[in-house]
Amino acid sequence: MGLDVVLIEDEEDVVDFVTYFLQKEGYQVFPFLRGEDFLEKMDTLLPDVIILDLMLPGIDGLEVFRYIREYPRFGNVPVIMLTAKSDPLDVVLGLEVGADDYITKPFHPRELLARIKAVVRRTSFSSFSEREVLKIGNFWLDSDHLMVKENGKETYLSWREFRLFELLIKNRGKIISRQQILDSIWGEDNFITDRVVDVYIANLRKKLGNSGNKIVTVRGVGYKFESS
Ligand code: CA
Repeated sequence: MGLDVVLIEDEEDVVDFVTYFLQKEGYQVFPFLRGEDFLEKMDTLLPDVIILDLMLPGIDGLEVFRYIREYPRFGNVPVIMLTAKSDPLDVVLGLEVGADDYITKPFHPRELLARIKAVVRRTSFSSFSEREVLKIGNFWLDSDHLMVKENGKETYLSWREFRLFELLIKNRGKIISRQQILDSIWGEDNFITDRVVDVYIANLRKKLGNSGNKIVTVRGVGYKFESS
């Protein structure tokens, strides 16, 4: 499958080797050395995946990421972040804003390719049993577009945020422990900590606005979506 890949990265040697490798795989690569250059061209692009360096001159990767997620057309385009260090804080930071995956430099292009295939597969052929739009309570859940709708208000989520929301609302009224959330959404990714769950909950609440208040913290245990 010839995917369209947007690569936002200021290090030219990284751009060169990633582009060379992905082109050999039949992918089309749209490289941008600066976040600003990408934002200018956003209207003309519809990539299958975006690879975004966290440390960029000018507008940094996190800022660029926010623009991507606030842009409805890009609502379900997976984003893989490139981080310079394996510092767990960097990892948390990347996931905190809702990136679909991250990769630590230096990396082998084959590893990047594997991640690309994984996030694209996850996004386009997600493992949801219901592919159609599902109504739960007052919410419509559109798994194809990772979008949640309530009273006409559309909220676009990342893949993991969507899974988290789905888990909470399907079990509304019940307490879900952090461990249950980790097992259900991160599976074997066993270095992920409770802290990441809290960060995702915080993001989800923020994105959902008023309805986010229905996600209540049960101290020392986990979370609950209030049923009424
Ligand atoms: Ca950089």
